[in-house]
Amino acid sequence: MVENNPSSLVAWSLSAEEEVKEISKRYRSLLKTCRPFLDKGNRKLIRRAFELAVDAHKDMRRKSGEPYIFHPIEVARITAEDIGLGTTAVVAALLHDTVEDTDLTLAEIENEFGNIVARIIEGLTKISGLYNKSSDSSQQLENFRKMLLTLADDIRVILIKLADRLHNMRTLDNMPQDKQLKIAHETSYLFAPLAHRLGLYNIKSELEDLALKYIEPGIYRNIARKLQETKVRRDRYIREFIVPLQQKIESAGLKAEIKGRPKSISSIWNKMKKQNIDFEEVYDLFAIRIILDSPLPLEKTDCWRVYALITDQYQPNPNRLRDWISTPKINGYESLHTTVMGPEGKWVEIQIRSQRMNQVAEKGLAAHWKYKDQDGDPALDAWINKVREMLESPQPNTMEFMDEFKLQLYSKEIFVFTPKGKLLKMSAGSTALDMAFEIHSELGLKCIGAKVNHKLVPLSYVLRNGDQVEILSSNIQRPNPDWLQFLGTAKAKNRVRQSLKEQRREITEAGRVKFLQKLKGLTPDVNDDLLQRIVHHLGHLSLQDLYYDAEMGKIDWNQVQNALRPRSKRSASKELASLNSTEALQSGKAPRQNSKDSNFEETEYGNQPVWVDGKQTDFRYRLASCCNPIPGDEIVGIPEPGKEMVIHRQNCVNSAITHSTSHQLAVRTRWNKGSKVAFLTGIFLKGTDDKGIISGITQVITDEMHLNMRSITVVSEDGMFEGRIMVYLDDTKALQDLMLRLRKVRGVLKVGRIEKMEPSLKFGL
Ligand code: MN
Repeated sequence: MVENNPSSLVAWSLSAEEEVKEISKRYRSLLKTCRPFLDKGNRKLIRRAFELAVDAHKDMRRKSGEPYIFHPIEVARITAEDIGLGTTAVVAALLHDTVEDTDLTLAEIENEFGNIVARIIEGLTKISGLYNKSSDSSQQLENFRKMLLTLADDIRVILIKLADRLHNMRTLDNMPQDKQLKIAHETSYLFAPLAHRLGLYNIKSELEDLALKYIEPGIYRNIARKLQETKVRRDRYIREFIVPLQQKIESAGLKAEIKGRPKSISSIWNKMKKQNIDFEEVYDLFAIRIILDSPLPLEKTDCWRVYALITDQYQPNPNRLRDWISTPKINGYESLHTTVMGPEGKWVEIQIRSQRMNQVAEKGLAAHWKYKDQDGDPALDAWINKVREMLESPQPNTMEFMDEFKLQLYSKEIFVFTPKGKLLKMSAGSTALDMAFEIHSELGLKCIGAKVNHKLVPLSYVLRNGDQVEILSSNIQRPNPDWLQFLGTAKAKNRVRQSLKEQRREITEAGRVKFLQKLKGLTPDVNDDLLQRIVHHLGHLSLQDLYYDAEMGKIDWNQVQNALRPRSKRSASKELASLNSTEALQSGKAPRQNSKDSNFEETEYGNQPVWVDGKQTDFRYRLASCCNPIPGDEIVGIPEPGKEMVIHRQNCVNSAITHSTSHQLAVRTRWNKGSKVAFLTGIFLKGTDDKGIISGITQVITDEMHLNMRSITVVSEDGMFEGRIMVYLDDTKALQDLMLRLRKVRGVLKVGRIEKMEPSLKFGL
């Protein structure tokens, strides 16, 4: 709102002398407003701020041609009068535009007025700079969000900003039309809801009315005209309506002020729009307010006594009773509302409240601490905390405010809430799992899913602004490598990597013990050379790798047996095997065989899980990831030229598609029963969203069946639960067994195998 060019004088034509007089007149009016909290020291501070501001802005004018200093004086007055703040805020308001628009520096202000005033002005300058210089609307919203963030520093920054905006709206006539519209839109979209949120109802109403005036001037003028036209009639109606009430209240010995309450233009327009009705049909066009002069302990009783007196006289509409006294609104608003049928069948809205309640309703909670503004005042701090709490509170009605913005905010940061209402700042794109790690890394490591706004979601769920997130954890959960795909924060990723390493170390160690034990059963000469030979023969990268696979059940012990043989025979047998397995049979004399000696040689490659055409063959294959076949399934192999064969389940759609769209013919394959490899299989569950269901499921999998679970994820909708589990299984028999047991878990209604694995699911799992 800065205008340095005096040539744009519009309606301002005072002489320099008259201007000085006008300035000091306005300053005295400000002091009058501040009187309740003015002592000598405060007066001096305000005087000094005023002088500094006058000097700093001395060459500047508003668009209207007025001296610029009018603006900070008026903002300071609104800050004191309408918002109820004290000296610190008044000083900051007087200086609010100096750092941005004049030569005055923050250091000078800090020097003169101390750290608190300087920080408030810094906050205001930051917001203002961000606000005015940005052009696109997403940036605007981002800046607005930043402004909300400054709440954490000092609530007074926001309150002075609102006063600033109010004065700018009051003087918007002098701006060019396109700017008018933009500023009006911001006001109705951002500032009015903010004022509402802070309980500043008067400011909110005025901001909304002023915004409407510029956004829909025709409608505004129309309603204003109709209000004007009907004013005399309405005033008379209200006067007559009040008479019997006044008598009753007086004879009851209560002191009260009763006044007609003008409805704001914007609230009338909102009603007309919402209910699709004409001006004449807005039924609580008639509204009165009864303000009781009651001592604090009697407030509530007196309000209800007045309610009783009113309803003796007029019939209340039972659907319109609102008791904000027993349960004040989160922004501190207290009042008793009712709507009664007045004469001529007209509804009249009545608000009943004490003077104290009225102060709070008009000026927000600041009214409580209006006259206490010393630095570090615990009461003011308490209020600031209250406002912050308000903004952070997760109750549905308090979320309305956040809701207004959360869909529109294109921010790099988002805000989410814990179940207890704690606000967490996360970067956009963060998942539920990220949040678990944000709360505590141990919680992250045990996370199995989350409830977002009371619905179960998988841990890969991408958080949205305003989500309330409850992290679900289980002691048996362990991180898996897929997690790295949907973790956003480096901290969480590192923690998962670290945990995976630890897991691997544990598995490797367990595998080492088992492997060496078994190996010693096969040969007495276990030494490093032998171990290296086995590593090499089995194609592992290191001994650690080998141990790891041993624990995971992925070691082909026939291959190990083979590696134990003298080198010459080993290579010979290998070559021969590829030509003729019977020759290999003859040449290979495996030493120290166990009871299975007799068929050991037959199964040279016998531990390979899949055979082609009913025979063991040394062929390269992989199990299709679309259908995840496991032993026991009917399978087919689909060869791909130059690549490994892909083993599908016979009923797999993908195999049918591949089959029917290429020239490849399926190869008959079957499982080798001797194979000792575990297969990753997916199981889905459905049930009721029961508290114990997850622990019931995991208990079956790990405690009863001792299975290696890779992941579990849960989602729910409307009280129904859906889980997906990835687990390592030997064969279809184990799968049937597992599914049978899972069906018995309380709350589980349906269990099935995941027939077709979506690629995305695999990551989600
Ligand atoms: Mn300003």
